[in-house]
Amino acid sequence: MIISKKKDHEELLSLIGNYNSFFLIGCSECASLCGTGNDEAIAELTEKLKAAGKTVVSATIPKTGCQTLGTKTELKKFKEFTDKADAIIVMSCGAGTQSAVEIFPDKPVFPANNTLFLGNMTRFQVFDERCSLCGECIIGLTGGICPVTNCPKGLLNGPCGGMSDGNCEVSPDIKCAWVRIYERQKKIGNLEQMKEIIPAKNWSANQRPANLSLKEKKDKTNEVKK
Ligand code: SF4
Ligand code: SF4
Repeated sequence: MIISKKKDHEELLSLIGNYNSFFLIGCSECASLCGTGNDEAIAELTEKLKAAGKTVVSATIPKTGCQTLGTKTELKKFKEFTDKADAIIVMSCGAGTQSAVEIFPDKPVFPANNTLFLGNMTRFQVFDERCSLCGECIIGLTGGICPVTNCPKGLLNGPCGGMSDGNCEVSPDIKCAWVRIYERQKKIGNLEQMKEIIPAKNWSANQRPANLSLKEKKDKTNEVKK
């Protein structure tokens, strides 16, 4: 899931400047689990905006904010309110916010949150980064633990010389990712894998902006079948 955190309210107020009325858009997926785009977050922001002399004309929580077409369809029934609002405030990740930018090309759109990382909820409302979206997954070679993300140096072969008593040189309060990989490989009977050098990654798979069209693939498959 995409982990987001509420922006400092003063920062948001300075972003929205002299606009007075707002339509709020949350998200029922990741931002709801992060407490940044759910009912409570919308109620809290509504109160804060009112206290700052602003008006919230209405709000909604679409199913999946980053699903641009679905969100556009869901927002149609709020047209009366979105038309009235000076601007839109989006309480989701940056992708959901940019859905709103596409849906409202003539209206200012502001992000209420900072988008932090792709992570796992390991305990209630505790999130840990697990994957850096590198585009070429190598965890099949590392016992399922990602060194690109869990090692602060992103070393594909480790540990580095700074590892001390199993802990990381850069962040001594965490276990070295490569010690974790070793322990995991040992547990699953795959220590032989540790002898193999993992080659340099193809970072071109990580170029931005990325895009993928499954439709194109289907079309090509259809072409082949014809
Ligand atoms: S190797 Fe890349 S894709 Fe796989 S978990 Fe790590 S960052 Fe994510
Ligand atoms: S100690 Fe381990 S996790 Fe820390 S930087 Fe070195 S190899 Fe990476």
